Amino acid sequence: NSEEWQVAHRVVNRIEEAGFEAVIVGGAVRDYLLGKEVNDIDVATSALPTEVKRIFSATVDVGIEHGTILVLDEGLPIEVTTYRTESTYIDYRRPEQVTFVRNLEKDLQRRDFTINAMAITKDGDIVDSFNGKDDLKNGVIRSVGDASVRFREDALRMLRAIRFSAQLGFTIDESTLKAIKQDSDLIEFIARERIAMEFSKMWKGQNVYQGILALIESQLATYLVGNFQENKNHWEQFRTDKSEVGWAYLCLLNRDEIQDIFDFYRLSNREKTFVRKVLNAYNALLKEWNVMDYFSNDLIVLETAYDFAIWQNKDIPFEKTTIKETKDHLTIQSVDELAINGNHLMKWTDKKRGPWIKVALDAAIVAVLNGYVKNDELTLKEWFMNDFINER
Ligand code: ATP
Ligand code: MG
Repeated sequence: NSEEWQVAHRVVNRIEEAGFEAVIVGGAVRDYLLGKEVNDIDVATSALPTEVKRIFSATVDVGIEHGTILVLDEGLPIEVTTYRTESTYIDYRRPEQVTFVRNLEKDLQRRDFTINAMAITKDGDIVDSFNGKDDLKNGVIRSVGDASVRFREDALRMLRAIRFSAQLGFTIDESTLKAIKQDSDLIEFIARERIAMEFSKMWKGQNVYQGILALIESQLATYLVGNFQENKNHWEQFRTDKSEVGWAYLCLLNRDEIQDIFDFYRLSNREKTFVRKVLNAYNALLKEWNVMDYFSNDLIVLETAYDFAIWQNKDIPFEKTTIKETKDHLTIQSVDELAINGNHLMKWTDKKRGPWIKVALDAAIVAVLNGYVKNDELTLKEWFMNDFINER
């Protein structure tokens, strides 16, 4: 199949030829069995990191203390990780210390959920010691081993359970869910960035609503910022392939807490900017969008604001499809398409550069977009010297 699989198979074969064991593990196996596109394929091996480095000529030590070597030999990069166990967990977080082992079973055993604890051998056989295949078929997220023990080792796994349930539309096994309920407070030990990363993956899931319900039922929501309980039904139709849309949605549902959400989840500047733009577009939509709203916002911003308004049962007198049509039909799509720029304005007026230029250009853009003025230099000059300057 895909190039990445071929590359991963070649890496596996080369390790095997060198006399070690190697398999494809984790998420790639799960997604392969689900018939989904696989984005990164992990290889696990009985070879120690130093042994892996001897087999290949181009490697990078990306996480050698955890046993991970990046192999570049076959073109696409493939992560190769030595079979390992994680023994000492401190403060309910993943351990810094790992122990390398020569046995695949032990490596699979340390993985979080049965659906993530399968391997594919070089002959294409599936190693499935924890019945991950059955859980995959039945749509169940189930801890490997005793759920309570596993969540106390690493409390992030609780949120990963929720995330996978949203991502795949799976239900969380009863005893796994019960264990989360019991230990939900341990999530406070986990770095917010890691929490946020799980949310970012959850937003893009097939069934975010299910994830939100699990978040509430498991009590995890209690320890997180944002009201999930009160707004839960608003997530019912939610679907996106861009994580920032999920953050915008969470913020719009919790308007009094936006700054707290930014801080708690440590959102990036890019995410925060996106949220603010959606919020502005949403407020503008409740009045009515003008050409400048269409001009200065990306389609995704406008569509997110629109979807949110619809989900809020706001009366919006046009179809979603007209957003793109309206945008496409704007006379100009960006400032660069305007026939004049700041230099023209400075030449005509003999004035120095300053904030007035943006004001004037914005006015020119509005005039062009509304069809008052044609987008050519002479017409714009006439408009500028007569109408614009005289109006001030
Ligand atoms: P995706 O990449 O689609 O988010 P994934 O299953 O590949 O899903 P990763 O976070 O990339 O998830 O982890 C790769 C594999 O490592 C998992 O499939 C799982 O076997 C194991 N794993 C990751 N995080 C944990 C954890 N916190 N506890 C136990 N095992 C984990
Ligand atoms: Mg992965």
